[in-house]
Amino acid sequence: MQREQPLQACAVSADPSDPLAQREHPEPPHSYRSPFERDRARVIHARSFRRLAGKTQVFTLGATTLPNTDGTGSAASGFSDHFRSRLTHTMEVAQIARTIAVTLGLEQNLVEALALVHDIGHPPFGHAGERALDEALRAHGLRFDHNLHALRIVEHFEQRYAGFRGLNLTLGVREGIIKHSNDYTAAEHPELAAYLLDRQPPLEAQIIDLADEIAYLTADLDDGMESGLLDVASMRAHLGLFERFYAPMAAEHAGAAEKLIFNEALKRMLNALAGDLIATTCTAAATQGIRSLEAVRAAPRRLAAFSPAVEAQRLEAKRYLYDHLYSSEKLERDHQMAADVIEALFTAWVAEPSLLPANYAARVEIEGAPRVVADYLAGMTDSFILAQFADWRSSRRL
Ligand code: MG
Repeated sequence: MQREQPLQACAVSADPSDPLAQREHPEPPHSYRSPFERDRARVIHARSFRRLAGKTQVFTLGATTLPNTDGTGSAASGFSDHFRSRLTHTMEVAQIARTIAVTLGLEQNLVEALALVHDIGHPPFGHAGERALDEALRAHGLRFDHNLHALRIVEHFEQRYAGFRGLNLTLGVREGIIKHSNDYTAAEHPELAAYLLDRQPPLEAQIIDLADEIAYLTADLDDGMESGLLDVASMRAHLGLFERFYAPMAAEHAGAAEKLIFNEALKRMLNALAGDLIATTCTAAATQGIRSLEAVRAAPRRLAAFSPAVEAQRLEAKRYLYDHLYSSEKLERDHQMAADVIEALFTAWVAEPSLLPANYAARVEIEGAPRVVADYLAGMTDSFILAQFADWRSSRRL
């Protein structure tokens, strides 16, 4: 079946001569892979990508075995080996984004590369870890931002080539890393001048942030159920979008296990969010007469969006997750543990950078201890940072 691909005319070109396919260190075209197929592979083969498997999405894996930072008992938030990790979350985003890209006719390999790389700059312990690192850096007049950190990873920290540092990704992927979820200004970030900050990102980058929203809203409801911190009655009462699908599924499958009805409702919710994003983005392009990448870039605002009604339901779901899951007492205990561990190691190593591994210690003179320590901490998995913390405590006999 030949599917209509309504926004194909707006897609990024995968031709190796296209400006977005250019690399900092020029490479001859591959005989059978496009530039973005190669970038997708480079991301998947990167060490920082593999470490996503050991990083918290919402639930810190194996949390029942974590010590409290005062050495008493456990900081458990409940345990299940079904929870998303940062890696499986990333794969869900890639899956959703690819469906949207194929349906719209966008450059699928660029979309996949962007989805796979979108969380590569995340530190251990999820958003609690990111907040803690940012707070630690602020005291030194610096900030931690996971998108900017992702760019540092792909441009500097990954070492796969003999001739240069970094993964040598195309401009299209590096621009997408910077712009998929944020609008940085050239005044605040002169170092990002090469990334066309005054222009909208291509649709391939615009859909990543929204695919991320779809993925985590639905997955966090699922993991919230799995943890026992959320229940169906509460979701039905608070989430219009969920109830819209739960009620008919409960009627159709009367007598089925609640979790199975929940699953049926949740996948329809995901489908509705993706379908709404596809339809709303097409309508926006048609209404504004946008029929080229140039026009996407010159538009006054991003085209990819949910409809106002679904956007309101998305915000309702997001608020619900904050109130009932992310700020639940059990998860707050994990967040406190994350903040304590990061603060303790950051302070200890900034005071004594000679304790860092040699390749990090060597950069202290150029970039300053706070940034280098933050880079080191940000790269760690949950289990590695906890082992470092345990070592540090025992060396101090705490
Ligand atoms: Mg994400």
